Amino acid sequence: MPGFELFSDLERNEVNDVLDNGVLMRYGFDGMRNGHWKAKELEAELEKTFESNHVQLVSSGTAAVSVALASAGVGAGDEVIMPTFTFVASFEAIMMLGAIPVLVDIDDTLTLDPKSVEAAITPKTKAVMVVQMCGSMANMDALKSICDNHNLVFVEDACQAIGGTYKGQPLGSIADLGCFSFDFVKTITCGEGGAVVTNNKDYYINADHYSDHGHDHIGHDRGAETHPFLGYNFRISELHAAVGLAQVRRLPEFIAIQKRNYTILRNALARVPGVTFRRVPKGGEESYAFLNFFLPDAESAQKVMAAFKENGIDACWNYYQNNWHYIRKWDHLKDLKSLFPISNEVRDGLKYLQTKTFEQSDHYISRNISCLIKLSWTEEEVNERAEKMAKAIKSIF
Ligand SMILES: *Cc1c(COP(=O)(O)O)cnc(C)c1O
Repeated sequence: MPGFELFSDLERNEVNDVLDNGVLMRYGFDGMRNGHWKAKELEAELEKTFESNHVQLVSSGTAAVSVALASAGVGAGDEVIMPTFTFVASFEAIMMLGAIPVLVDIDDTLTLDPKSVEAAITPKTKAVMVVQMCGSMANMDALKSICDNHNLVFVEDACQAIGGTYKGQPLGSIADLGCFSFDFVKTITCGEGGAVVTNNKDYYINADHYSDHGHDHIGHDRGAETHPFLGYNFRISELHAAVGLAQVRRLPEFIAIQKRNYTILRNALARVPGVTFRRVPKGGEESYAFLNFFLPDAESAQKVMAAFKENGIDACWNYYQNNWHYIRKWDHLKDLKSLFPISNEVRDGLKYLQTKTFEQSDHYISRNISCLIKLSWTEEEVNERAEKMAKAIKSIF
């Protein structure tokens, strides 16, 4: 991560192909496009990658989450269970539909704790959204059985875990609906873009229509298409899809580089007393986009972060202090600072955030350090970094 580190002629040629032909929109203009369908091609490629029947490209990962939930009929007043450790996009996408995000604890996988999910289910719960943070995953069998038992829609945000697998299945293809982001910092980038992945044909058709103003996409005359239901514009452009098309063909190469770099760092840190690693559920294989490790307590994690800074080791974060990824700093959500009025139903539904504490999440996040694995590092650079990191951690004990 991220894919932009390895831009090459492959991306340039795909983009130029779109510009030379001149049709930047993914729908319509059939007569002008001379067989150029980059978004459709990318969808077909992603269906192979995710071993799924249907992929609908959209304009972002945030849009993908919102479109996925909408496609499954999640809306006003419905509760969606999600983790405390994620990206702000998770609750944004839920609230965009007038639904209520119900935040619950993570465990040592750094993703949803199945026990916390089960405890949070109410008669209003409609969906569970797992977020496969930092290249790894939750116990998907446990979450799936909870969703089956309670008749809940199971959504999988795999924006940070493309290329990872669980019991041989690609992450993002396991739940009822999977979501991906191809924003500028993801393993595969389009600049901006996202995808909804599903084996459910009804959900797919809903996503296809909803993300393009409710258009039915029947026939070849956009003007004659009807609107079976209301939609929005969450379309991807041909230019963005062209970049993604070149990138996704390189996914196996990207994952192999990530794995090599991750393994060097992990082996070096495994020899340092006091360092432990995040738990990967049985049958899971990470995408190796990040290396996550724990220190014995929050104080030593802070000391290690300071030692990293002193030694010029970048791209590592302690998310306890982070504004984007952890509940602790999301005052704009807790205080509901909105530009426009929010329904009383959602307001009441979010009151719990004023008082609820998340000790279990704090316990893991405060001790965690998460290091981005870059694609552009040479093996020599990773070895050097590994040595420096190990030395910096040892220095604090
Ligand atoms: C990046 C990301 C998103 C949102 O993707 P955008 O394309 O930036 O809207 C959602 N969830 C997670 C976990 C992400 O990392």
